[in-house]
Amino acid sequence: MNYQLGRKNISHKLSQSLLQRLERLGRQLVEEKGRKLVLMEVCGTHTVEYARTGIAGLVGDYIDLRSGPGCPICVTHQNDLDRIFSLARLEDTLIVTFGDLLRVPGSYTTLEQEIARGSRVQICYSPLEAVETAAQNPDTRVVFIAIGFETTAPAIAAAIKLASQQQLTNFWIYPILKRVPPALKALLQHPMGLDGFILPGHVAAVLGRKAFTFMPDFGYPAVVTGFEPLDLLWGLYNLLTLIAEKRQDVGNAYSHVVREEGNKRARLLIEECFAIEPVTRWRGLGLISESGYTLQPLYSHLNACLHFTMEVSAASTDPQCACGLVITGQCTPQQCPLFGRRCTPSTPVGPCMVSPEGACGAHYHYR
Ligand code: SF4
Repeated sequence: MNYQLGRKNISHKLSQSLLQRLERLGRQLVEEKGRKLVLMEVCGTHTVEYARTGIAGLVGDYIDLRSGPGCPICVTHQNDLDRIFSLARLEDTLIVTFGDLLRVPGSYTTLEQEIARGSRVQICYSPLEAVETAAQNPDTRVVFIAIGFETTAPAIAAAIKLASQQQLTNFWIYPILKRVPPALKALLQHPMGLDGFILPGHVAAVLGRKAFTFMPDFGYPAVVTGFEPLDLLWGLYNLLTLIAEKRQDVGNAYSHVVREEGNKRARLLIEECFAIEPVTRWRGLGLISESGYTLQPLYSHLNACLHFTMEVSAASTDPQCACGLVITGQCTPQQCPLFGRRCTPSTPVGPCMVSPEGACGAHYHYR
């Protein structure tokens, strides 16, 4: 047997045994509580991976997995989307963005539709590509859409530093970067009937497990979890163990990646380039204090919000779209009246259906 096949076999056997232990514990807890356990997976990648690997279905008899505010595109407010579209309509301006944003509907259009109307939009895989594009096209105004959480912020900080070093005068950042811990705190203010949380492994890799130790103050156990099938099962098993032992603690089931203090270099880079915004708007969660990043005063000349005039449309989201409820765990995608009818991946009404990390898309494709 070759190494890869051997590894696959071991991983398969481990998964089987872990799943059996998880099921025993899960069914025991269901008997005690008289209902299924309701857990929130905060991160959009977890939402997709639990659905794609079939684990959500396998544990569905005893665990109800709810999505949280961890898909960066899904939590982006309609006003921010509209502002990006108005930037795309400016002359001599090139929008550089991650591809996820292309088909996300705002109040009146999408970037894809704007391209069809003649706007210039370039997809990138790294923020550094946007800096390179600006350096190569000095006559074009290049605006990079900085979307994401603490995970993406270090790479964007590196781009800010590079653009500043190169003294580019045709490069700006539209910052819509958000911070996960304040959003979680805001969510936890309201009783949600949840039993525990699967915490985002990527964000914890940057911030450290310690960044989430406030969770027990709100009465919830939580576990930092990775993204491979075994990691996903291990995270659930650890969380159910905490629930069974009635321990309101923050576990780390991703300790091969996540340290207590996180990644110090990445955190320093974030602090060097970004200041914490007093208040930031989120879809579904409203205004949350200190939950977003803007550029430090040293780099404010690169802030597109201070340089361009942008319009916000008076139109709003489809009143029937339940994205705000889906990303706060208050309903499942299937409970939205538009799910699978008017709203599908080819005719998305809300961002949760079209984002690669969106709960509605994940449920439509895999569940
Ligand atoms: S199914 Fe579509 S309309 Fe409904 S919540 Fe999801 S994205 Fe919004």
